[in-house]
Amino acid sequence: MPEMIDHISPSMLSLFCRCQEAFRRRYIEGIKLPPGIAACIGTGMHKGAEANHRQKMGSGCDLPVSDIQDAARDGYHKAVSDGIFIPAGEEAGASAELSKGVDTAVSLATAYARHVAPRIRPVAVEYKMEAAVEGLPVPLLGIIDVLDESGWCPDLKSAGRKWPESKAEGNLQPPIYHYLLKVTRGIEASMSFEVITHKGDHQPIPVNVRDDDLAPIVARAKGLLHTMQSGVFLPAEPGHWMCGPKWCGYWHSCSFIPNYKKCARSNAA
Ligand code: SF4
Repeated sequence: MPEMIDHISPSMLSLFCRCQEAFRRRYIEGIKLPPGIAACIGTGMHKGAEANHRQKMGSGCDLPVSDIQDAARDGYHKAVSDGIFIPAGEEAGASAELSKGVDTAVSLATAYARHVAPRIRPVAVEYKMEAAVEGLPVPLLGIIDVLDESGWCPDLKSAGRKWPESKAEGNLQPPIYHYLLKVTRGIEASMSFEVITHKGDHQPIPVNVRDDDLAPIVARAKGLLHTMQSGVFLPAEPGHWMCGPKWCGYWHSCSFIPNYKKCARSNAA
């Protein structure tokens, strides 16, 4: 069964931790759902930053803000045109939300250009890393946004509001990226989240990673493989924020949701 996946990434493991059934639908049945509007906004901002980082590796200078905004706008439109998840019942307001989304993506890219870009001297952009870990039959895989020449690895996040302090603590990305940078580039990277809110605020969150942080993640990854072997996938915790039609695109076809609830939603919509 583990041959169904040839690596484990932070996003895979994170989905498995939230809902094993959603993981099964996504990675075993192969049903990939389109992103929501918020994710497309984040993609737009990332595309603006990526365009800047790629050229800055050669030029050493940041692009004009208007160029970063253009790349963010194009990135948002491309993400939306590739397909978007609109929860049932929210179709009526979707068109206005999509129009607002492009403005938000551009303002996020503007905040990135002002607050984050000048501090980064990129040596690697959208860098894919893969490495084996002792005791795990498949390698870990991660793709970082950018690596600064000092060994700083900032991870850009878009968010509706500022993150609570605890949110960065439990994130699986920093320990996995830290390990992969050590193995693939031989560096002790310093990690941070650079959160840009939809209001344009910048919230830098340094993350202190120690080597010991990897062991609990590897234990979770082993649990994932064990679950795949058993074929028994648990649903999300009852009442979990993700387990509803607004946040889970599998909700309407999920065997763990009683039909009367799905019918009630359909009738309401
Ligand atoms: S509806 Fe709930 S249990 Fe079903 S896949 Fe989604 S989050 Fe998991």
